[in-house]
Amino acid sequence: MANFGGPQQRVLAGRLPTTALKRKLISLEKVGIDVIEIYLDNVLDIIPTMMGFTLQKYFQRPQEMHHHLAEAGGYKPLQCMNDECGKDIISKERIPYSLAGFYIDNENSIHFLYGCKSCVADYCTHPYWAEIGQIRYIEQMLGWRSVVDEVAVQNKPSADFYKHWALLQEAILQIQVPQGWGRWI
Ligand SMILES: [Zn+2]
Repeated sequence: MANFGGPQQRVLAGRLPTTALKRKLISLEKVGIDVIEIYLDNVLDIIPTMMGFTLQKYFQRPQEMHHHLAEAGGYKPLQCMNDECGKDIISKERIPYSLAGFYIDNENSIHFLYGCKSCVADYCTHPYWAEIGQIRYIEQMLGWRSVVDEVAVQNKPSADFYKHWALLQEAILQIQVPQGWGRWI
């Protein structure tokens, strides 16, 4: 692990060193100063491992940091519940067009639904629903969890209600903002 900011070190951040900078670095090393060079690619590697509070403090738009898990492997898409669609509703492109909600069938069972707004919005007959782009924020997700609990208690959940709710929660964790909250280290 590098010792950043030690008395005999200079940490220099940038995209790539210019020739002039490189000469400067070499001259620093010649006089006995250790130089640690950090460039854009190094920073991008570090971001996914940062804690949520660090990201929140130093990055203005966390919603623009997408899918670190996708890049790290092990990403699991969440397919729209419209069988004829099958789009990944938590993909970077689809998040703004996706929602979760509830459908009450003829036998008065309540179903948990998620998918593209254009595919499932008409079926969300219960007044409560949530935008995926909204509940990816941890505070919003906590609120939505309470709503789902309340809806499940006040209605008769279908056999697959909790399965679909679990799949949605699993998916949201992958795109959660801030990234990394609740992760054990
Ligand atoms: Zn769809």
